[in-house]
Amino acid sequence: MSKRKFSNSLNSQMLRMSLIPLSLMTIIIISVSISGLYQLVTAKTREELIRDAQLAKYVFDEVYVGDYWAEDADNDGEIEMYKGEQRINGDSTMVDDLAEMLEIDISVFYDDVRLITTLKDDYGNRAIGTSASVIVKKDVMDTGESKFYSNVLVYDKKSYAYYSPLRSEDGSISGMIAVSRSQESVNQEMLQYVFPIGISCILTALLMGYIMVYFNRKLAARISKMDKYMNSLADGNFEMEMPRELMLEDDEIKHLANDGKRMAKAIQTLVEFDALTGLNNRRFADKKLEDIRIRSVEAGIKYCICISDIDFFKKVNDTFGHEMGDYVLKMVADKLKNGMVGKGIAARWGGEEFLLIFENRELDIARRELEIIMDEVRTIWVPDSDRQITMSFGLTALEPGETVDEALSRADGNLYVAKESGRNQIICK
Ligand code: GH3
Ligand code: MG
Ligand code: MG
Repeated sequence: MSKRKFSNSLNSQMLRMSLIPLSLMTIIIISVSISGLYQLVTAKTREELIRDAQLAKYVFDEVYVGDYWAEDADNDGEIEMYKGEQRINGDSTMVDDLAEMLEIDISVFYDDVRLITTLKDDYGNRAIGTSASVIVKKDVMDTGESKFYSNVLVYDKKSYAYYSPLRSEDGSISGMIAVSRSQESVNQEMLQYVFPIGISCILTALLMGYIMVYFNRKLAARISKMDKYMNSLADGNFEMEMPRELMLEDDEIKHLANDGKRMAKAIQTLVEFDALTGLNNRRFADKKLEDIRIRSVEAGIKYCICISDIDFFKKVNDTFGHEMGDYVLKMVADKLKNGMVGKGIAARWGGEEFLLIFENRELDIARRELEIIMDEVRTIWVPDSDRQITMSFGLTALEPGETVDEALSRADGNLYVAKESGRNQIICK
């Protein structure tokens, strides 16, 4: 039997049922983790930048005393910036060291113009003289409030930045100090955390997926075996063994398999046995006859076939009633069945006719055994009467190469002779 194909097999349904939610769950967990991590990193960067800005301000205040101010004394467009008496935008060493130590960029603005900075372009030129964005100017210079940005362009680079106003002693705002980290560098740091989380999520999902697929396949394979068994049963194959895998777990499939077994037995009884006598019926006998023909050819086993018929059975029915007739049929069937134990089979061939198949025997041996059976039948009497039950038998051997029908018609012919020549005897040819 070829494997059945389904457009929507149980296996693929179960796989969909488990793998789709698993994939969704994995995507959700990874997304939630990354978004949580992003918020965490943003908060951490904000704290660090606030601290760094305060530190930079503190360093400037400690090193230089006084207010921030600036002028273009020699009118050459290059603005000199001072803090108190000290010029602070001539030499960048201090701010460079600080920035390197804190791994950030630092800019000091006079008003909104960058006069000290560690920001450089690709050629190493410092971004001196560039302006803060309009938004920053509005947010910080105009309000006097410090402000953190998680996504702002600092010298054309997307950055995290913290701007804090610089105040003079009289409270007026003279500029800003800005500390920033490019998003690229923060993201790279974040990747260190994202990578193990992502990998472990994916590996866990793969492992779970593998386990689900394994058990789904196992379950689907058992159900498919059950389907095969039922299919074979539907084809009338009652001998098929119940696959062992179906009985391994104490579950619904095992119960289904047991029900299937009982069903097979019940159907077999209905199909292959005669309800009245309990003997095999003609349908079974026909199948058996075909089997023995093949076996006699292939294995050289000798078979003898006998058709037997109760003598004057109609009279039993007429005299004692149909029910008594049934009773006699059962008695006869019992004698035939017991008599054939170890020799072959007895089947109800129809009405009050029976077929006996002697297996692996020469004709003379079968005849002697049949005589014993005939004697046993003679011991049956219709209860409370003087009517003895006898039978006539037509016995023959299945000759090599001949068809079952040929042997059957010879047995039938023998039975006819037995009837014609006085009944209650065996004719054997
Ligand atoms: P012979 O010796 O020539 O075989 O005579 P006979 O009376 O046995 O032969 P016949 O074929 O005329 O009668 C057979 C009878 O068997 C007729 C039928 O009513 C009866 N019979 C067939 N099946 C059953 C059954 O299941 N139960 C009963 N009670 N009678 C049955
Ligand atoms: Mg008859
Ligand atoms: Mg008869």
